Amino acid sequence: MTDKKLGFVGLGRMGGPMSERLINAGYELTVYDPSEAALNAVVAHGGRKAGSPREVADAAPIVLTSLPTPDVVELVALGPDGLAGGAAIEIMLDLSTTGPNTAKRVAEGLSKHAVQWVDCPVSGGVTGAANGTLAEMVSCPQPVYARIEPIIANFGRPFFVGEDPGLAQVVKLGNNMLAAAALVLSSEALAMGVKAGVDPKVMTDIINVSSGRNSATQDKFPKAILPGTFDFGFTTALSYKDVRLCVEEAEAMGVPMLGGALIRQILTITKAKYGPDSDFTCIAKVIEEWAGVEIRG
Ligand code: NAD
Repeated sequence: MTDKKLGFVGLGRMGGPMSERLINAGYELTVYDPSEAALNAVVAHGGRKAGSPREVADAAPIVLTSLPTPDVVELVALGPDGLAGGAAIEIMLDLSTTGPNTAKRVAEGLSKHAVQWVDCPVSGGVTGAANGTLAEMVSCPQPVYARIEPIIANFGRPFFVGEDPGLAQVVKLGNNMLAAAALVLSSEALAMGVKAGVDPKVMTDIINVSSGRNSATQDKFPKAILPGTFDFGFTTALSYKDVRLCVEEAEAMGVPMLGGALIRQILTITKAKYGPDSDFTCIAKVIEEWAGVEIRG
């Protein structure tokens, strides 16, 4: 283990279990989160408490971040008490979904402080974060990749996308737009089935061995919609953010994204109706309400 001391900022649904995996693997981890509950949970697991992102960057050469939105990533990196001015930091490794524009802007801001940015958005949800089975999309210079690969191998399977900041974010946005689309379209198909009198559990089982299978029918429906728990672990606000960033990015590049724009509108409705902190599986509730049925197994 070359880099034994690490920092971690943002100990939420994803960052909490990921930081605990690093502690279990033997890293000395300095951690910060403004939420006392999130911070104390990781400190109880063996993390060292810091009072700000700057204190984390004073303690460790590589600092990982898992933060909710692009503006928070920018604030934590370059804000008044941010990572950039830390005494020890050499690399900021961001696991958040920020979109390529934020990645490029923060990478440039950090470079003025001789800090290297690494894009590392992840996919696989809270279960993947806890079990170390995430897909990790990485963009950074090759020598930096060689240094950080053993660290992120603790979370799952890394994929090197390229050297330019933001490249990995483009892959991640495309993936998350597809995941949200699968949830919307599967809700429509299952609502139709229920209204006709089909058991949604039977219909899901059939789809999952047929050509319509997708991440919603395989994972979200069995875990959080058929049982009516709506607790998959990803908020509507974050899914909305991802699809919004995806559609905006495509638009800026002159790539048509008609379906993506529709999915964004359905997430806007879900957020208005069930709140930003609701689980994004509440998309199914919106479709259920319009269809006048409930999709429960
Ligand atoms: P979360 O809201 O559960 O966690 C974010 C954490 O950041 C919270 O603990 C919050 O207190 C902390 N935070 C907020 N402002 C902060 C600040 N100024 N300084 C330091 N910490 C701050 O979100 P999450 O679900 O863990 O997602 C984190 C990131 O990972 C997001 O970018 C999300 O899009 C991405 N992601 C989430 C999932 C998922 O399934 N939840 C999957 C893949 C990627």
